[in-house]
Amino acid sequence: MSVEKVEVLVVGAGQAGVAMSEHLGRAGVPHLVLERARIAERWRTERWDSLVANGPAWHDRFPGLDFPGNPDAFVAKEAVADYFVDYAEKIAAPIRCGVEVTSVRRNTGRPGFRAETSAGVIEADYVVAATGPFQRPVIPALVPETAGLTQLHSAAYRNPGQLPPGAVLVVGAGSSGAQIAAELMQAGRKVYLSVGPHDRPPRRYRGRDFVWWLGVLNKWDAEAMPGAEHTTIAVTGAEGGHTVDFRRLAAEGMTLVGRTEGFRDGVMAFAPDLAANLAHGDANYLSVLDEADAYVARNGLDLPEEPTARIIGPDPACVTDPILSLDLAQAGITTILWATGFALDFGWLQIDAFDAQGRPQHKRGVSVEPGVYFLGLPWQTRRGSSFIWGVWYDAKYVADHIVKQRAYTLYRPATAAE
Ligand SMILES: Cc1cc2nc3c(=O)[nH]c(=O)nc-3n(C[C@H](O)[C@H](O)[C@H](O)COP(=O)(O)OP(=O)(O)OC[C@H]3O[C@@H](n4cnc5c(N)ncnc54)[C@H](O)[C@@H]3O)c2cc1C
Repeated sequence: MSVEKVEVLVVGAGQAGVAMSEHLGRAGVPHLVLERARIAERWRTERWDSLVANGPAWHDRFPGLDFPGNPDAFVAKEAVADYFVDYAEKIAAPIRCGVEVTSVRRNTGRPGFRAETSAGVIEADYVVAATGPFQRPVIPALVPETAGLTQLHSAAYRNPGQLPPGAVLVVGAGSSGAQIAAELMQAGRKVYLSVGPHDRPPRRYRGRDFVWWLGVLNKWDAEAMPGAEHTTIAVTGAEGGHTVDFRRLAAEGMTLVGRTEGFRDGVMAFAPDLAANLAHGDANYLSVLDEADAYVARNGLDLPEEPTARIIGPDPACVTDPILSLDLAQAGITTILWATGFALDFGWLQIDAFDAQGRPQHKRGVSVEPGVYFLGLPWQTRRGSSFIWGVWYDAKYVADHIVKQRAYTLYRPATAAE
């Protein structure tokens, strides 16, 4: 049986796979991208209906193509997916959709890799795992399925109408949790929001979006610091974009609680850390304003002052007198919505490039297993790595590395050639 051979096999056609294809194509490296579903599938079917990009269109994009329309708008998720389909077409990316890679193993006794796929075997000299920073939804094992509650992860949430009638406990107040909780409250639900430690940058300050501030302050390029691999960031582009303000949500009727800690006999326990978590978020918010002000002063920029941005509202009762335990049935809660993040899952990549916890071992995406690369990991090289614009630069680095390695593989001594 003949086996299809490719030089570079890219697994996954989200933004990372498309960016990888652009750089490999530009360097003239033959490659194939396999996608189990459709291009940018996660944006289409693994996010909630009303999601818009967290960054404005002028920023959250690849250098080679603008989003149509207002560059300051926050693009709806379907339009983000369409953008990558258009981009793939523009660069004539060799993407084969509807093909799942089920395993990749190193060949024995000869170079290269053997990929088993839903459409047969493919052999490749190099493999790029571009299967996303957010692969497997994580739900902490706190509440048994037998508790009589609807439980779902933010990745499975679509809209308020999907949930049974009743109040909702949203666990996690990063970008997903904060946005979903606000949407549920606007739909008339009673909402409890469990708020853990988080950063809470201002959406806009002195006439500029925070993505601009993080750019000029060179924070998108910050490299991962030990122990700071994951920071929950509460930011939203919904309704034209505004700063996430938990106190305002509480004033509008949401009940805030601390980190969700345990569950017993229908009663949920929360840590006494709500005030501290809000204070941490405030400190982060104010530090961005301080650094922005210093930048304006140092560079003599003419950006309008905005002293009201420093006004932080009074603590609501749920903060000054925190709820530490809650009988969910008594509170009318019928649904727990876990906005508790994602884990990596490289079960299909059966090579020796992971630590004991299953984390990829790599430097800037170049794995410890020669010939295998990662792309799109959180903090792969910097804060921006898992975001649309950041992955494009990481893809360039990975493509350059493949080009260099390929030159060694293709080299033959002149004498042998004679
Ligand atoms: C709710 C949410 C909102 C976000 N908003 C923004 C934002 O506004 N701006 C921004 O820049 N970033 C945002 N991000 C982060 C990031 O841009 C997205 O997560 C993006 O989808 C990551 O792109 P990717 O290509 O790395 O991975 P993915 O989009 O996850 O693409 C990986 C692809 O690989 C495919 N795949 C997986 N396994 C296999 C296999 N074994 N065989 C074949 N194919 C496979 C999947 O089907 C998928 O299409 C957001 C993330 C989330 C969760």
